[in-house]
Amino acid sequence: MKAIVVSQSGGPEVLEYQDWPEPAPLPDELLIDVAGIGVNFIDTYHRSGIYSLPHPFVPGLEGAGVVTSVGAEVGEFAVGDRVAWTGHMGSYAPRIALPADKAVRVPQPLSLHEAAGIMLQGLTAHYLVTSVYAVKAGDTALVHAAAGGVGLLLCQLLKNRGVTVVGTVSTAEKAQAASAAGATHIIRYDRDDLVEAVMAATEGHGVDVVYDGVGRTTFEAGLKCLKVRGMMAIFGQASGPVGSFDPQLLNDGGSLVVTRPSLTHFTRTLEELRWRSSEVFGDLVSGKLSLTIHDSYPLAEAARAHLDLESRSTSGKLLLLPPQS
Ligand code: NDP
Repeated sequence: MKAIVVSQSGGPEVLEYQDWPEPAPLPDELLIDVAGIGVNFIDTYHRSGIYSLPHPFVPGLEGAGVVTSVGAEVGEFAVGDRVAWTGHMGSYAPRIALPADKAVRVPQPLSLHEAAGIMLQGLTAHYLVTSVYAVKAGDTALVHAAAGGVGLLLCQLLKNRGVTVVGTVSTAEKAQAASAAGATHIIRYDRDDLVEAVMAATEGHGVDVVYDGVGRTTFEAGLKCLKVRGMMAIFGQASGPVGSFDPQLLNDGGSLVVTRPSLTHFTRTLEELRWRSSEVFGDLVSGKLSLTIHDSYPLAEAARAHLDLESRSTSGKLLLLPPQS
């Protein structure tokens, strides 16, 4: 088969569409015909070597498709089942061997493209609002890059829980998208003073929680936006990593809490994976949550998708579509 292969670290050009061995599933695995693949920021870190992996490798952590064979030790799935996954490398391919305990069933009303696009960012938004800082009605949250993939989903999950959302964006189009997703206050952090704008939006109180997927450029100002005993969840670093900092800053800000969470640690058991995915799928099916697909690209054009994602011009999910056999 042909898959996207990374043979050396580098820019989007190192994503090469080339021959790669067919997957050989183990007894506890499913063989899947892939219908859609989600592109995520972490894929750019694997490609560039910020998170280093042995070469060559097929990147990509999420997707959805149809089961075409079932390993002898797998009891729960059958040929023809529609499944989705996150957290399994090798997803930029037309076929994948997936451990059965990574697979979740896709409920019928959802398309496989929606399922492929919601897993990683949807489950991330879910663990951030339910488990990292369990929000309650009446809270106020600051969401950075509110029109991004995770950002649009976070805004919706927060609004659905009665939280007032202050969202940051870098363009007028992104401001519209974040408002439509539920952000009550929008801040243009590319040109306005973040702390002043957050204080104006919250009548000087600050926010209970900051969800920060931007990192380097937002960290310090974000701390100043928190209420006493507020929490900052730095879940990403789209602008670069946060450097080392003096913990006294947390004391000065009012016994603040900073955490750096990962989806892996919030989907550690099958029960947790299924709980989160069934709630996210359920919200999609009922219409409480909607997924914005920014664009879809043929699998062979993965490099173009990475260029777009890193250019800061996208809003929502980017999908790769393998050729259908
Ligand atoms: P987005 O779709 O949010 O894209 C990144 C956004 O960040 C951009 O659109 C842009 O929005 C903003 N941004 C600010 N500065 C920069 C910059 N210098 N370069 C590029 N973008 C910038 O991406 P995702 O939703 O996929 O991911 C967001 C972050 O969350 C990533 O760092 C990702 O790795 C992380 N993540 C972490 C997870 C976890 O479990 N810890 C899981 C999922 C994602 P704007 O133009 O409005 O500023």
